[in-house]
Amino acid sequence: MQPTITPTKATLGATITNVDLANMDQSTWQVVENAFHEFGSLIFPKQHLEEEAQVIFAKRFGDLELLYPDDKIEAVSISNQKDDGSLYGSEDFRYKTLRGNEGWHTDSSYMPLAAKASILSAQVVPPAGGETEVADMRAAYDALDEGMKDRISDLRAYHSLYQSQAKIGYEIETDAGYGYHTKGAPLRPLVKIHPVTGRKSLFVGRHAYEIPGMTREEGQKLLNELVTFACQPPRIYTHHWQPGDVLMWDNRCVLHRARPYDFSEARILRHTRVAGDPRTELVETGRDDRAEDFKPSSSNRPDPDSGQLNSTSF
Ligand code: MN
Repeated sequence: MQPTITPTKATLGATITNVDLANMDQSTWQVVENAFHEFGSLIFPKQHLEEEAQVIFAKRFGDLELLYPDDKIEAVSISNQKDDGSLYGSEDFRYKTLRGNEGWHTDSSYMPLAAKASILSAQVVPPAGGETEVADMRAAYDALDEGMKDRISDLRAYHSLYQSQAKIGYEIETDAGYGYHTKGAPLRPLVKIHPVTGRKSLFVGRHAYEIPGMTREEGQKLLNELVTFACQPPRIYTHHWQPGDVLMWDNRCVLHRARPYDFSEARILRHTRVAGDPRTELVETGRDDRAEDFKPSSSNRPDPDSGQLNSTSF
């Protein structure tokens, strides 16, 4: 059975059918991996993967990034529902994380090692809204005029989850959960060269907040302009979820966001995150003025004396 690949109408994304992600031979996997590099985002309708199968599928792409201090937890729930079935409210930490996800971003750009790929599978979807959107930063870079390409060619930006949450009114304490660490703010080039395809893409998003050599306001203004320009049709694909769907994207060249929905309805997605390659996604960090401390580290794992070891919040 050869998978069927149907590109979306956007510059990125393809739907793959005639494939069972839980049972792929080597040649089928090769088709999927090649499509991942070509299209940047893949949609697999109605796979209904078990958690273990999703973890095994994710590991085909590389080591998993562990979002909890407990190494045994390889898949996490992105959900507005508590264990007891009630839903999170606006004062809850999880609610603030979910609202943050509604801004265009790339996963783990705020960690020393940024993510390679993210995979979501839908468990429960709300009756309206709650879509996931992906935006093509390869096509966005290509569409910049030459003056802007020159202007940003050697620029870098600091990325921080504290800062992106503060921009939407949430002040989060150090060690409150994954991403709120003392490792410092990673300094990442605005133009990223894809380690496999060699294509250039814009590497921006809500976690980027300051460009060395500019005031924070000037840098943020430029970063906002780039995101606004980049995240426009035909560079956006919107996924309307059905239970069992799997959606994935390449964080090295794709931004994504969740669309709003009525928070009195449940929305439960299962997430596995594939770690970046230290040779291409690991960068130096600088002090983050919203973190309590600065202990430079080249690892995403919690420091042994971090309060995050006792935290189960994500
Ligand atoms: Mn995300």
